[in-house]
Amino acid sequence: MLKKVLKFTAKLVPSEKAGKRNVLLSFQFYRENLTYTPSKIIVYRREEPNFIFDCDEEEYFDGLVPKESDVIFEGELEIKDTFAEYLDTTAEEGKTYAYWVGKETVGQAITGPVAVKVRNGKVWLRFDEILEETNRLKSEFPSVKTKQIGKTVLGKPLISIRVGNPDNLICLVGGVHAGESGPELLFPAVRYIIEKHSDLLEKVGIVMLPSVNADMRDVMAEGAPWYIRKNAAGVDLNRNFDADFEYVDHSYGLSSIDPRSFTYRGPYPNSEPETEALISLMEEIKPKAVFSYHALCSVTADLGVSSRIARDDSGYMSLLVELAKVYSPAFRAVLNGPPRENYDIPMICTSGSLITWLYHRGIPAFDMEMSHDLTMLTPTMKDHSTPEMVDLASQAHTAGILAVMKHFA
Ligand SMILES: [Zn+2]
Repeated sequence: MLKKVLKFTAKLVPSEKAGKRNVLLSFQFYRENLTYTPSKIIVYRREEPNFIFDCDEEEYFDGLVPKESDVIFEGELEIKDTFAEYLDTTAEEGKTYAYWVGKETVGQAITGPVAVKVRNGKVWLRFDEILEETNRLKSEFPSVKTKQIGKTVLGKPLISIRVGNPDNLICLVGGVHAGESGPELLFPAVRYIIEKHSDLLEKVGIVMLPSVNADMRDVMAEGAPWYIRKNAAGVDLNRNFDADFEYVDHSYGLSSIDPRSFTYRGPYPNSEPETEALISLMEEIKPKAVFSYHALCSVTADLGVSSRIARDDSGYMSLLVELAKVYSPAFRAVLNGPPRENYDIPMICTSGSLITWLYHRGIPAFDMEMSHDLTMLTPTMKDHSTPEMVDLASQAHTAGILAVMKHFA
């Protein structure tokens, strides 16, 4: 006899159709004795169109009941090692759903909800797909070198990808914040540069770390509907670096010393394994410039922002302006976007950020953010990124990166 549902989870899994995802529900059952008598379970689903990304949070789903929901399954499921699974192949891309599970009688002993946003697989690469693409690059191109530089909180390997001149490198960093941009933009860019610009790579190399906050980015790729910023230990990696760490930051009105904040800096400088991995990478490669890709939902633009602390350093500022004047025109030419109005660099990166840490080492560095005059890309800020927007942004960044490589050649 099935006693009760102990654990109920939902995640997106690849479907046979490229880029499409199905929802895999998993239930763990407690049973009173070792002999199992099948009994009926009921799966409820309701679309949640009122959930608004970057406005509503995880708490939106607390205490929701399956009123006016659809029964999408009613019957027996095979139980293996106390777990049963149900694959929902009818969930539609772009929609947010809440699921509940009950047993035997409609309305009885209901567990849930669990929530899923059906995200596109080309917009959100899962961690296993990131590793596959890393291995594919390495096996297709003997010039590509990979190296594990550390691990995430949950033990995922962080693997850097390097190609080209090892003594004259630029560095591309993705996914410091889980719900932002990185691997989907950078993998196609680096692949294109390897395929088409081997001459340039002899002069200037590239190092990429596509997904720093790999644990929590995977949670979004598996369908968490809300924005996630911090790592699996609840730390904002872009506040955790040993760079003016003693200064409390209040960006967005939040305190970086409060563990409840989205911007919590962590218990001490460099406390997080992802931070340590990035530092060891930077110390090893000594890059000429670093671009760290942010903004939202796998797409960002050419608005490079840099460290607050560098505001009065005219020498460093002129290095930044020089690079922005190289990157932005190339980027915008691909988009047929308006030219940049000016090259004022917003100096907003805080204490504890990667960019401030790099500033203290004299390395020109940007967080790459969305620019609101690029209207073809701004829907991504509300989690409306499409494969077409990702593709367009990736091509534009490829042009920007190539322009920077030519600058350093
Ligand atoms: Zn960010």
